Amino acid sequence: MNYRKKFFVEPGSKVRLNDVDPSFTGKHESADEAREAIAKDCDRLAHLQYRLYAENRRSLLVVLQAPDAAGKDGTVRHVFGSLNPQGATAHAFKVPTAEEAAHDFLWRAHKVTPARGSIAIFNRSYYEDVLVTRVHDLVPKDAIPKRFDRIAEFEKNLQQAGTQILKFYLHISADEQLRRFQQRLEDPNRQWKISESDYSERPYWNDYRKAYEDALEHTSTERSPWYVIPANHKWFRNLAVARIVTETLDEMDLQFPAPTVDIEEMRAKFHAAEGEPAGKA
Ligand code: AMP
Ligand code: MG
Repeated sequence: MNYRKKFFVEPGSKVRLNDVDPSFTGKHESADEAREAIAKDCDRLAHLQYRLYAENRRSLLVVLQAPDAAGKDGTVRHVFGSLNPQGATAHAFKVPTAEEAAHDFLWRAHKVTPARGSIAIFNRSYYEDVLVTRVHDLVPKDAIPKRFDRIAEFEKNLQQAGTQILKFYLHISADEQLRRFQQRLEDPNRQWKISESDYSERPYWNDYRKAYEDALEHTSTERSPWYVIPANHKWFRNLAVARIVTETLDEMDLQFPAPTVDIEEMRAKFHAAEGEPAGKA
């Protein structure tokens, strides 16, 4: 199945998240059965990162947005965990600091966009500024459409500098979120993840839905696509994200740069030096 086609948000199309099955797993039936496919994609991803780094011309920005407990952290760990840290960054966007809040909303994001040759993963992003800010009326209503325009310009600017952007909305059901919160409460290894906001945000579930639907509709483009990833099953979420990222990198046709030395000449030099002791006699 072509996940890039299936989960792509058509630019300008109405998004109805309630119509998307968060438990979808396609032809795959279980985590066990999909394990090999995921491992293969993750290996391929590591290889493609190597080419991206070597080429040193373009970069990749991956944006992860989702409700609480939908698996942003898990996606970073499972899908991007095999990347070479030299050439990859992950950045979690929290409530803006005083310094960040004193700047335009894109300032803190622009500083951590990927350098040439590298991959940046945004765990939350500048999209929070059209989501949480909207749900809690932190900005005037008419600021939101203007921010969609600013975002479009910002992403275009990055593209023109050689950055490929991929944006994933991890789609879980309200029931699955509750189940995961419950799991956090019961598991001593997960209790640290619980935050007051997990519970205080749940009454706003429908408002967030609406804010996401609008944001996806207004900011998905061919060059800077949004994908709605069914994420009730963690393994399927990992598979779909890994597949879309690797296929996109594949399509970028990353090239190793030409050597900076004359290989024949270097070979001759090495041959001539063969058998001679290293260092000065
Ligand atoms: P977490 O990802 O669970 O560590 O939580 C980060 C929190 O920061 C979430 O509640 C976000 O909604 C909040 N946050 C991130 N960006 C912004 C923003 N621009 N304005 C307000 N809150 C934000
Ligand atoms: Mg949280």
